[in-house]
Amino acid sequence: MAEKIDGKAIAEDLSAGIAADVRAFVAETGVVPALAVVLVGDDPASQIYVKRKLEQTRKVGIRSLEHRLAVETSEADLLALIQAFNADPAVHGILVQLPLPPQINAIRILDAIDPAKDVDGFHPVNVGRLSSGAGGLVPCTPLGCMMLLDKVIDDFRGLKAVVIGKSNIVGKPVALLLLERECTVEVTHILTRNLPEIVRTADIVVVAAGSPGLVRGDWVKPGAVVIDVGINRIVDEDGKPRLVGDVVFAEMDHARAVTPVPGGVGPMTIACLLANTMKAARNQSRGGSAGHRALSAAADVESEANIKLRTVVVRDLSVAADIGVHAHEIGRRQVLLVSVTLRVRPSLSDRLDETIDYTDVVTAAQSLANERISLIESFAARLAAACLRHPLVEEADVLIEKPGALVSGLAAARIVLGRPLMAEHGARQLA
Ligand code: NAD
Repeated sequence: MAEKIDGKAIAEDLSAGIAADVRAFVAETGVVPALAVVLVGDDPASQIYVKRKLEQTRKVGIRSLEHRLAVETSEADLLALIQAFNADPAVHGILVQLPLPPQINAIRILDAIDPAKDVDGFHPVNVGRLSSGAGGLVPCTPLGCMMLLDKVIDDFRGLKAVVIGKSNIVGKPVALLLLERECTVEVTHILTRNLPEIVRTADIVVVAAGSPGLVRGDWVKPGAVVIDVGINRIVDEDGKPRLVGDVVFAEMDHARAVTPVPGGVGPMTIACLLANTMKAARNQSRGGSAGHRALSAAADVESEANIKLRTVVVRDLSVAADIGVHAHEIGRRQVLLVSVTLRVRPSLSDRLDETIDYTDVVTAAQSLANERISLIESFAARLAAACLRHPLVEEADVLIEKPGALVSGLAAARIVLGRPLMAEHGARQLA
């Protein structure tokens, strides 16, 4: 008989822990964590979700700010509201309930949320952090799935995980989290061929398809752990409405453990929203956001009291790349050390995290490293130009070092680019 993973009880434990964290945080800082929840329109399902989220938020002592906007609200008005929340230090988390009415571009709205307050984890910066394993705010449902798996699996390393569904809110992030735990992950979707055979290879199955009864007993190998994310409203034979998952629960006896629907992943999603809000509040009270602190690159700030510039240093960011290697070295993925010094104008609030996002620099370096650039000078120049795209950056000084250079020759390059001309002030070979 498979163990039923009781998501409701696990979520209650998690919420109790968060309530204790909130009390400790308030006692320590005098600040009450706050979550702004925005609902546009009157979609009945969204109203139920928002109501549940608000109830749970208040229960753990997090302050909730509820904004219900008319269905005809313009994108500009919604953006203005988000910007006000971004600028308000008393708001720590922002959640915009999806879907949004057609006149509003959901991507533009989600992109406008300050990544440090993005408790849904949908902002590109948080998505990037998740994919590079750099921490940050992780989407709630995938986070909940991992917590449930953690209850029954001690060591994920080398296990085969099959994820059914590749959505941005469940399938892809859960796959990245499993990969981060050293699972071998296969992501499948509606056009995947031989799905039952692929699922039969899995030690862990995470199903987020929205297809009632998709996963049958004979798809699942004995001893596998099955997480059913699906929520489907069906009408059963007696004409009664019922909530079911994507997995035929009654056929899962041979599995090691399985989540029920309802009472599995669902309650975890809201508990993880509260956890993310608490995490965001704590990060903001420390004057930073999670991703910034979790970066392997060291980030220092030196105030230059008399001039209205700041220097932000990202030192020794290691990027494994083929850049600057000789033909016979290609494929060795040498390590480049990247040091970036930015002269940055102070922002109005003078808070560093609103001034410049280190992660943007790290992400730019990593994505450039994946391109075919043959010279470390051009890598440095392109990274400097990428840094200057930030409106507050006045000057970017990029030093790239190749400590493991195999043959004598160029081992480092430095480029300084500045405004207003973005002209190259200097490029020199250091060795
Ligand atoms: P989505 O529609 O964005 O994505 C569904 C994915 O499943 C797609 O990649 C699609 O290709 C794949 N898929 C659909 N039918 C399939 C099939 N027959 N075989 C293989 N792949 C198939 O959905 P979503 O937003 O990721 O949500 C998925 C399900 O999870 C829904 O039922 C949703 O209600 C539920 N959900 C639950 C929670 C929760 O808190 N428990 C949170 C989010 C979503």
